[in-house]
Amino acid sequence: MRSAFDIAVIGSGFAGSLVAAIARQLGHSVVLLEKGKHPRFAIGESSTPLANLLLEQLSDRYGLSRIRPFAKWGTWQETYPSISCGLKRGFTFYHHEGGSVFKDDAAHRKQLLVAASPNDRVADTHWYRPDLDAFLVEEARRLGVVYLDEAELWGVDADQKRPIIQGRHRNQPLEIHASFLIDASGPRGFLHHALELPEVPFKNISSTQGLYTHFTGVKGWSEVAPSTEVPPYPVDDAAVHHVFAGGWIWVLRFNNGVTSAGIAATPEARNSLGLDFASKQHAWDRLLEKMPSIKDQFSAAQPTHPFVHAKQLSFLSGYVTGQNWALLPSAAGFVDPLLSTGMPLTLLGIERLAKIMESKWGREGFADELFNYSMQTTIELVTVERLVAALYASMGDFDLFSALTLLYFAAASFAEAARRLGRDIAGETFLLGEHPVFGPRFRYCVDVALKKPTGAAREDLLQRITQTIEPVNIAGLGLKDRNRWYPALASDLLKGAAKLQSSREDVEMMLKRCGFK
Ligand SMILES: Cc1cc2nc3c(=O)[nH]c(=O)nc-3n(C[C@H](O)[C@H](O)[C@H](O)COP(=O)(O)OP(=O)(O)OC[C@H]3O[C@@H](n4cnc5c(N)ncnc54)[C@H](O)[C@@H]3O)c2cc1C
Repeated sequence: MRSAFDIAVIGSGFAGSLVAAIARQLGHSVVLLEKGKHPRFAIGESSTPLANLLLEQLSDRYGLSRIRPFAKWGTWQETYPSISCGLKRGFTFYHHEGGSVFKDDAAHRKQLLVAASPNDRVADTHWYRPDLDAFLVEEARRLGVVYLDEAELWGVDADQKRPIIQGRHRNQPLEIHASFLIDASGPRGFLHHALELPEVPFKNISSTQGLYTHFTGVKGWSEVAPSTEVPPYPVDDAAVHHVFAGGWIWVLRFNNGVTSAGIAATPEARNSLGLDFASKQHAWDRLLEKMPSIKDQFSAAQPTHPFVHAKQLSFLSGYVTGQNWALLPSAAGFVDPLLSTGMPLTLLGIERLAKIMESKWGREGFADELFNYSMQTTIELVTVERLVAALYASMGDFDLFSALTLLYFAAASFAEAARRLGRDIAGETFLLGEHPVFGPRFRYCVDVALKKPTGAAREDLLQRITQTIEPVNIAGLGLKDRNRWYPALASDLLKGAAKLQSSREDVEMMLKRCGFK
C-alpha cells in the first residue's frame, strides 16, 4: 500500500485516536497507524477534573459529541453503560509503615482524602482502556480516519518536505507519505527510535520501576480498615494510593469487577523490601508479605493479565518537535503515575496541537507555534518531575508528603475553576507555572523539599507551603479542622471567588452549569 495523507498519527491509544479524530474534523485526511489490535490491555486509567474538562472542551470545539459523555461518570453511565469504567470521586492516600497493620487516629494523621467532585453524577472516572480505546478508534474511523492496525513500522524519512513512513501492513509493504506526523505511541515510541532522538535523563527523580496488572477479587479498603466516621466520599470510589517510604501502590476499581493495581518504587525502597520486580508475581507476593493490610485487601485477588514490569518509568525526550513532526506529551515524556498527571498533560498537548492545526496549517507562524508547543511540553514535564521527585523524597514523612500534595491539588482545582469561568488568570501552563505569585513560590517549595529538610527547615517548609497555596486555595485545603479529609464544597469555591477574579454570582452560575449543585 502506498498512500498520501495530510497527517499520519502513530499509535491508537486514547490520545492517538482523539488527535486523529480532531485533525479529521478540521478537514484533513488522516491515517492512524497501530502496531497492535483493539481491544488490548493498556494502562493510564485514572482521570482528573482537569483532564475531563479538557476532554469536554475538545469535544465541544471539534464537534465530537459522541466522545463528550466520557467526561463525567453520570453521562458515561447513561450513554455507554456497556463500556466499563470506574467511579473516581477523589484521591485517597494511606500511609504504611514497615510490616505493621494500618492504623489511624481521629486526626487522620495516616491518611489524606481529597474529593475531586461533589457527587457521582459529575465525578471523574477510571478509564477501562481496553473498552474505551476500542470505542475511540472506531469513532475516529467513523469520522473518516483511515485506520491500519497490525502495522509494523520500521522507518521514517523526515528530511523530506513530506515525511515518508515505511513498514508492513498485514504482510504487505506499506509506504505512507504525510505532510505532518503526530507520534502518539507513548514513551520511547516510534519516532524516538526511528529518528534516534536522544533521551535526556530527569535530574531529580531516581530510577523508579513499576510492576502492575489487572486483578479480580480485590477487597475494598473500607472492608479492610473500616471507619466509624463518614468520609467525604466512599474511599474506594477513588484513586487509592498506599504510600510508604520510597514507593506507593495504586488501586483503581472498575465497574466490571476488575481492579487495576501496581507499585512504583525507588531502588532504595525495592532493596529495603527485598523486591526484584523482574520476578513479577513473586515480587508482588513478597510485597504483600511486607504490607499486612494490603495483603488482606489482595487476599482473594487473581491477576487477569500477566504482570508488566516497567524497568524505567521516567523518560524525557531531548526533542519534542521537528519541522514536520511532533510528539504528543505522552510520547515526549513520562514521570510517574503519582497524581495522575499523564492524561491532563497529554490532553493539554492535544489542545495546543489542535489549535496550531486550526490556525496555522500551511501558514506563516506554524514553525514558531510548534516551537512553543515543544518548549511548553518540556517545561511541564520537568515541573511534574520536580514535584513528583519531591513527593518521593518525603514518602517516609507523611505530614510533609500530604502538605506537598496540596501544592498539586490547589493548583489543579484553581486551574480547573478558572477555565470553567473563562478567566485567564495564570495562562494555561500546567500547575499554574505562570501564576505570578504561586508559580515562583511553588518552585521554591519544591526546591527545598528536594533537599529533604529536617528540623527547623522542615517546619519552615510546611509554613511556606501553606502561604504558597493561599492565593489559589479555593478548596479549603490545609484547614486544620478538616483533619485531612477535604470534601468538594460549594462554600469553599464561593469564598474563593475573588481569587478567581470573579463575583460570587459568577461562581454560583458556574457551579450550576457544571452540575455541582
Ligand atoms: C504504570 C502507569 C500508570 C499510569 N497511570 C496513569 C493514571 O492513572 N492517570 C494518568 O493520567 N496517566 C497515567 N499514566 C500515563 C498514561 O498511561 C499516559 O498518559 C496515557 O496512556 C497516554 O495515552 P496514549 O494514548 O498517548 O498512549 P498509550 O496508551 O501508551 O498508547 C500508545 C499506543 O501506541 C501504540 N504503539 C506503540 N508503538 C507503536 C509503533 N511503533 N507503531 C505503531 N503503534 C505503536 C501502542 O500499541 C498503543 O496502542 C500511567 C502510566 C503508567 C506507565
